[in-house]
Amino acid sequence: NFGDTPEARDIAHHFHGYTNARRHQEIGPMIIERGEGIHVFDNAGKRYIEGMSGLWSVGVGFNEPRLLKALSDQAAKLPYYHNFGHKSHGPAIDLADQLVEIAPVPMSKVFFTNSGSEANDTVLKMVWYRANALGKPGKRKVISRHRGYHGVTIAAASLTGLPYNHRSFDLPLPGIFHTMAPHYWKDGRDGESEEQFATRCAEELEALIQREGADTIAAFWAEPVMGAGGVVVPPKTYFEKIQAVLAKHDILFVADEVICGFGRTGEMFGSTTYDIRPDVMVLSKQITSSYVPFSAIVMNDRFFDPIADESNSIGTFGHGYTGGGHPLGAAVALENLAVIRERGLVENAREVGAHLRARLATLADSPLVGEVRGVGLIAAMELVNDKATKSVTTVSQLGGMMNVAMQRNGLISRNMGDTVAFCPPLILTKAQADEIFEITAKSLREVEAAV
Ligand code: PLP
Repeated sequence: NFGDTPEARDIAHHFHGYTNARRHQEIGPMIIERGEGIHVFDNAGKRYIEGMSGLWSVGVGFNEPRLLKALSDQAAKLPYYHNFGHKSHGPAIDLADQLVEIAPVPMSKVFFTNSGSEANDTVLKMVWYRANALGKPGKRKVISRHRGYHGVTIAAASLTGLPYNHRSFDLPLPGIFHTMAPHYWKDGRDGESEEQFATRCAEELEALIQREGADTIAAFWAEPVMGAGGVVVPPKTYFEKIQAVLAKHDILFVADEVICGFGRTGEMFGSTTYDIRPDVMVLSKQITSSYVPFSAIVMNDRFFDPIADESNSIGTFGHGYTGGGHPLGAAVALENLAVIRERGLVENAREVGAHLRARLATLADSPLVGEVRGVGLIAAMELVNDKATKSVTTVSQLGGMMNVAMQRNGLISRNMGDTVAFCPPLILTKAQADEIFEITAKSLREVEAAV
């Protein structure tokens, strides 16, 4: 019973995503009031390290004055305009320019959307439109991966490869298929090397393409590092082998850089880290450090040209959003990018990330830690009850216990089942990384004592 408190009113009227309403009533909300650097403070004044950057997204920290100034300056000048038809505005033009400039491979066009989900839905519609424009309407099926996360709108949820995003919604849509996740530690066979496992992943993709017919498959979707599916870092040679299969069958590569983009992997894009040559990149979250909802689709000529070709004459590209390229989001994104560059936050993610991961790796001695993995400033610790069989006795129990302990000890984390994720802001210092480690180690000891 929370009485007449913000907690009670939250329970009464606020329907949260990704929770069970009855459990929310029992546990009660955690109400965050303000943010400062890598920290947030709840309504009792308790300070937490935001070890997940909110939702993998607040790269520059929770009160960056330069972003706030860019936001208010733009709001004073032009708080809203759109980009339908031939209308445009400065922030969208400048940002499109810069995204093309910093793209890891030659790109030429940018389409603006509001969220990662909408961006992925939009790319699928572009894939379909392009297939029609090319006179190959049958080449419109797409493949993503089990454990992949691409959002929750109808196409994006279909691309997502997690059961709870499909169950109860009658998804995925027809024509969207999933191939195996590259989770080597979990799914590698006894004696199988990383390279052999990667070959098996590519062979499974090839088999799926053969089964469906190569002339029916238009695109393949992948996060460079899977986030919500458990921070799955690709094994050696994985993307090289996957891209060879795609090239053979003239299948487009859509890189969902919603988490990886803007420095997370220790490069500006995850595609650079893994030598991915995408035709399309989906960007969101860290593009504005999530101060404003915003997303962008960056595409190359191979993808765009058939869409633009008037000789195909299928008419207007009948798609766009009221908020697409929103001047507030675009202005914040430009400043965010300037902050990332001027402060060397990509390099910082690489250096401090390596330090954090090295310290977390020392916890692998624990009887409960199956694997510590990561790249740049994104990491995970996968917990097990039995290291030999990599098994857990009750799904989510260890991860959930660890999450609760870490939060009690002042570190906000996130558990995906028994995988505990770390994705702190890119501004993290080594001393703060040490603090994350200390809290994690202490929490782990508490969980060890409790099981
Ligand atoms: N793609 C990836 C890789 C994501 O991690 C997410 C969100 O977590 C999305 C897409 C969906 O983004 P949004 O929640 O903004 O719709």
